[in-house]
Amino acid sequence: MIYLDNAATTRPSQACIDAVTQGLAEFGNPSSLHGLGLAAEQKREAAREAVAKALGAQPEEIFFTSCATESSNTVIFGAAQTVGKRKKRIVTTSVEHPSVAVCCDKLAERGFEIVRVRPREDKRIHADDITAACDDNTALVSVMLVNNETGSVIPAETAFAAIKKKYPQTLTHCDCVQGFLKLPIRAPKLGADFISLSAHKIHGPKGIGALYIRKGVHLPAFIVGGGQERGFRSGTESVPLIAGFGAACEELSGNITQRHDKVLALRKKLRELCERTEGVYFNSPDDGSPYICSIAVKGLRSEVLLHFLEQRGIYVSSGSACSKGKKSSVIAEFGIPSELADSVLRISFCSDNTPEELDELFDAVKTAQKTLAKIR
Ligand code: PLP
Repeated sequence: MIYLDNAATTRPSQACIDAVTQGLAEFGNPSSLHGLGLAAEQKREAAREAVAKALGAQPEEIFFTSCATESSNTVIFGAAQTVGKRKKRIVTTSVEHPSVAVCCDKLAERGFEIVRVRPREDKRIHADDITAACDDNTALVSVMLVNNETGSVIPAETAFAAIKKKYPQTLTHCDCVQGFLKLPIRAPKLGADFISLSAHKIHGPKGIGALYIRKGVHLPAFIVGGGQERGFRSGTESVPLIAGFGAACEELSGNITQRHDKVLALRKKLRELCERTEGVYFNSPDDGSPYICSIAVKGLRSEVLLHFLEQRGIYVSSGSACSKGKKSSVIAEFGIPSELADSVLRISFCSDNTPEELDELFDAVKTAQKTLAKIR
């Protein structure tokens, strides 16, 4: 199997699988007062420290959630419920993941003014444009760090610094799902009040995410009940998944640069293969994250090519996994020509991928070009 769909999800690492398995066997509830409970609590707190360390945050700034989607929903609806009583503008971008974009759609229905900053002609979102979209009435700015369809890096840090200077009361949120442990993110430097993270994009388990809440910032609880996660997120914690998340963070924290360099070489090779192959286009920016690349094979429909590749054991994505075959508006926002929009493939790496896998991908793409029916 050649797996090139790491932005959809990653293969859990052995350390993650071991931690989850052990967590299942040691089944205590961290709220129990006896020894089994204490052991589970210690496991949970060790994982919290690992996540915090990987983000350059304090453990008390990390709250476990079920996924990044929950983290972002909690932030956006929570901000609307608090500061949103007085301030009615939310600034975001036109290229956000649905876990942010759809929350904003819902708030628009409730009377919020949603300003979605778009890429300029150079196909980039500019920090100045995000800052300029803010005013005294802005409750929240929610901007992703790495786009999940093209790998484009949004200058969130620069924008947040300018916004906090001009409008210190405006809350800032960053969806760091595709950047965490791939770019060297340090929470205090990023300047976000809130950061959404997901474990399954970093070789951790599915069903577990985290929300960073900067010390001193208030956000109402989204799920109430037994008061777990210091009252912020009730429900018995999934200690096995939390432990798997912690193990994945520990494993990846020490080698961000080495993995980045390896993946950068893969992107370079992919770009060269695209340039050398007639009818194949490389759509991602050179200054983006190398982990996510958008390509297009002109004349072949994405889904048809995806299944053709799958028959040869090569797994890629058509746009993002979340768009499930629906035409992506993000591709158009980034200025990818409409005649290529139906032919886009997302190739997303992890550091285990190899240059030889890209040769195999291109052998298969060339066969597809010769044999598959073209879009009319
Ligand atoms: N944000 C981005 C940028 C993503 O790519 C994804 C998943 O694809 C999510 C959020 C949602 O993450 P989760 O699956 O943990 O809800």
